[in-house]
Amino acid sequence: MTEDSTKKGPTLVWFRQDLRLSDNPALVSAVERGEPIVPLYLLDDDTPGNWTMGGASRWWLHKSLESLAADLASKGAQLLLRRGRAEDAIPALAEEIGAATVVWNRCYEPWAVPRDTAIKQTLKAAGVAADSFSASLLQEPWTVETGAGSPYTVFSPFWRAIRDRHVPKPLAAPDRLSGLSGLSGDSLEDWALLPEAPDWAGGLRETWSPGETAAQERLAAFLEERVAGYAAERNRPDIEGTSGLSPYLHWGEISPRQIWHATLHHLSAEDKAEKGVWSFLSEVGWRDFSYHLLYHWPSLMDETWKENFKAFPWREDPERYRVWCRGETGFPIVDAGMRQLWHTGWMHNRVRMIVGSFLIKDLMIHWREGERWFWDTLVDADAASNGASWQWVAGCGADAAPYFRIFNPMTQGEKFDPAGDYVRKWVPEVAGLPDRYLHRPWEAPDEVLASAGITLGESYPKPIVDHSQAREAALAAFEKIKKGAA
Ligand code: FAD
Repeated sequence: MTEDSTKKGPTLVWFRQDLRLSDNPALVSAVERGEPIVPLYLLDDDTPGNWTMGGASRWWLHKSLESLAADLASKGAQLLLRRGRAEDAIPALAEEIGAATVVWNRCYEPWAVPRDTAIKQTLKAAGVAADSFSASLLQEPWTVETGAGSPYTVFSPFWRAIRDRHVPKPLAAPDRLSGLSGLSGDSLEDWALLPEAPDWAGGLRETWSPGETAAQERLAAFLEERVAGYAAERNRPDIEGTSGLSPYLHWGEISPRQIWHATLHHLSAEDKAEKGVWSFLSEVGWRDFSYHLLYHWPSLMDETWKENFKAFPWREDPERYRVWCRGETGFPIVDAGMRQLWHTGWMHNRVRMIVGSFLIKDLMIHWREGERWFWDTLVDADAASNGASWQWVAGCGADAAPYFRIFNPMTQGEKFDPAGDYVRKWVPEVAGLPDRYLHRPWEAPDEVLASAGITLGESYPKPIVDHSQAREAALAAFEKIKKGAA
């Protein structure tokens, strides 16, 4: 049998990383068909390569689905929850409801692309139309290419190629939805996405309100209060200078097109914001670039991109890895970042680079170990941005920091957390130190430590490495593999 676009029957709308009603082309196309819709979220834990969703992502997903279900219900449709392998579950559900069409917005993860292609074929062979839409990126990865017709591997020319391109105006949310009733699905509680024993999500609850409304409010507040200063303040973890939109973008509670147009609209009303606006939009461009890389190099999350780096002598060191994960390295800025991550599910970008450099270069632990920890603990854990960023920090990615750039955790702390507010918040054990020693407690004289109530090795760890020696060791190892480095 082949698909028949005139066939009557409900439309199955398969929600994935597009958990919103506005600027949702799949949903709009379903409404335009004029048949009842079945909005579905399918929990599919059958992700290859051990890339099943991590703990913080599961927490976010639960909250986000609650919000999506309420938004859908307010328009007249009930969110159906099912669990299973998408290749089986989607065609089976299409048959169960007698769907004439199945629609979704595209995903680009290496497991999603072939899966979705296969599902489309299965559906079409069963006479069901299947349509996918662009909704999560500014530009589809295959539409951006160099003059030589190949994918970009460097951000700056990629950004020059897309920044003046047309970005379609966001679509309005449908006014009303006509849902199909009487279907039996799971309850969200059945999925046990929230941690219980122990409940480690208190800090996530304090920090975040997932959902489309919260995403729009966050964007509006950022544009009103912070975008003008973004270029100057985006590197300061002690200041709330960035948007905090990354989890909302990852889950598609807001679209990059919405951000693009709202930000440019703000610029037209506020010309002092020009520098901040373009600096901010270029970061949203980095997100597109990461997806461009992931789409063209599907092994980005797993394999070192630069060939010669595969020979790097990584160390197996579970104890030091554990200490890094827990934020007990004895380097206050590193520990502050790792504790912010554990508590809130998010870490400031500058500090992500510092902790990443520390793991890879000071401890010489494989970048993949860091990527895995972030995957489990970040609420914005994202295959493209996480994989590309870890390879960037390691120096082995397509567009990467030079291998010899080794972040000095003391001077980075002093430069980007100058009054020590960030470290004092997350590492209270050292809060009593004067600024001069805050980022290097081991250099403080005994009487200074004593008056700050610190006994190194007891109340706060001694540094687990000597940074200068660790730096020399890493540089020596990098020198050996350098030949052939792009
Ligand atoms: P803003 O500064 O407000 O930027 C706006 C948006 O641009 C962000 O929400 C994000 O979607 C995008 N963006 C910003 N910086 C980058 C970047 N360097 N690469 C790609 N997109 C970017 N980001 C993730 O979304 N998920 C991840 O799993 C992730 N892992 C990272 C791992 C490492 C080792 C590093 C160094 C960076 C990682 N990033 C990741 C990128 C970046 O740190 C976060 O996107 C950013 O800190 C999110 O905060 P924000 O929303 O306030 O960003």
